[in-house]
Amino acid sequence: MEVGSLWEAITPSPPKCAKLTGTIAADVVVVGAGYLGLSSALHAAEAGLDVVVLESQQPGFGASGRNTGFVVPSLKTSLGPSEVVAVLGADHAGRLLKLVAESGKAVFDLIRRHEIDCDAVQNGWLQPAHSRAAEATLHGRMPRLVNAGVDAEWLDRDAMLKRTGLPSLHGGIRVASGGQITPLAYAHGLARAAISAGVRLFGDSPVKSIDPDGQGWRLLTTGGEVRARRVLMATNALVGNLLPELRASIIPARVFQIATQPLPKDFRVSLLPDLAPVADTRRHTFALRWSPDGRLVTGGMVPPLPGRMALARRLFANRLRRIVPDLPQIRVDYSWTGIIAGTLDFLPRMMRIKPGIDAVIGCNGRGVALTTALGREIGPWLAGQVADADLTLPLTAPRPIPFSRISGLGPHFILPVWEARDAFEARFR
Ligand SMILES: Cc1cc2nc3c(=O)[nH]c(=O)nc-3n(C[C@H](O)[C@H](O)[C@H](O)COP(=O)(O)OP(=O)(O)OC[C@H]3O[C@@H](n4cnc5c(N)ncnc54)[C@H](O)[C@@H]3O)c2cc1C
Repeated sequence: MEVGSLWEAITPSPPKCAKLTGTIAADVVVVGAGYLGLSSALHAAEAGLDVVVLESQQPGFGASGRNTGFVVPSLKTSLGPSEVVAVLGADHAGRLLKLVAESGKAVFDLIRRHEIDCDAVQNGWLQPAHSRAAEATLHGRMPRLVNAGVDAEWLDRDAMLKRTGLPSLHGGIRVASGGQITPLAYAHGLARAAISAGVRLFGDSPVKSIDPDGQGWRLLTTGGEVRARRVLMATNALVGNLLPELRASIIPARVFQIATQPLPKDFRVSLLPDLAPVADTRRHTFALRWSPDGRLVTGGMVPPLPGRMALARRLFANRLRRIVPDLPQIRVDYSWTGIIAGTLDFLPRMMRIKPGIDAVIGCNGRGVALTTALGREIGPWLAGQVADADLTLPLTAPRPIPFSRISGLGPHFILPVWEARDAFEARFR
């Protein structure tokens, strides 16, 4: 048994990004080299800006190198089109739903355009229901999803079973433009593309402070400093104490992942035969995919107890045994963890922290496609080619989450309630 990330084990070395030393200037500084920072930086450089990215470790160190690699052109399950309209109003909701609908295509187009080698498979993303009631809700959403431009197709229970090999699940949605990637390889590829576009990307350069500097800002790292008029915070849940108002605006939720040993080929053809990843409608989602080397990858949240990694290995291997029929003997070869930035309404935020300092945060575990697509808009926006009023998300002031210091514990305490409701619904509704 090995503890560590499967993605690190199978992804070739990153482009090594040197530490910042001395003083430099740029039009824009992006803090954080995950998908959001890298996609924004790449598109800003393509829009003609001089861009510096500062990353405290190396590109893909955060959630972008640790996620499950599902390319999901959809928001959280609880957010159908009507719920998004209720929170954002018709105008911004329409824009967000359109951006989400196009986000799968945005990822795979970018991969093709920059020849990113990340085991990309665009064979759809599957969302079966875990209960009859959830199936009815999903089915009811179909017309509005299709209206919003999502290439969603309804699969009845038999059709879904053919696609998944999971008989306990019901009918649900297939979004053809979704798929899967190897997460860390995608982050490295975006970093290479950004560097080729002229972005100066520094690793091992944590930003320690951001202070006013004439018309702009001065960012101090452990080795040097950058002066720029605009700053984009793309730190996601790893923001630390750099900007307390940003930290206070999210709920950081720790998520665990496991990968089994490579499984026999004859078994692999019976489960997710198209390599389309599956995530059901449970509150504690059951998510499953094949890795490029034939392992099952799954995960979720774990109660806040000592020895959580060992517990995660046990819990998620047992969940696999319960849900996947005829599963051969499995062994957990890899286990790792990362942090999701959540919000109370499960919607992402675009925030103006101070004049010239903006942040995008809160992709709620749906950030692979969403951050890529947002970055495609943020680049030209930083270059003044998109007006504030035309942005997909409203540019708002930070909104602190009540009890933000301990809010990260919330999802873990609510976990048993979610699981009990999921199990009840799967059985009786
Ligand atoms: C276990 C797990 C599974 C997930 N599965 C999926 C999935 O299958 N599909 C999906 O769509 N989404 C998934 N997500 C969510 C998705 O990974 C994220 O939404 C997305 O990666 C966020 O990208 P980002 O660029 O905003 O943040 P990150 O990738 O977290 O990047 C933030 C970066 O900022 C850097 N940083 C922070 N502070 C500083 C500082 N002071 N100075 C310099 N650098 C700094 C960090 O080191 C980090 O590299 C998952 C998340 C996790 C944790």
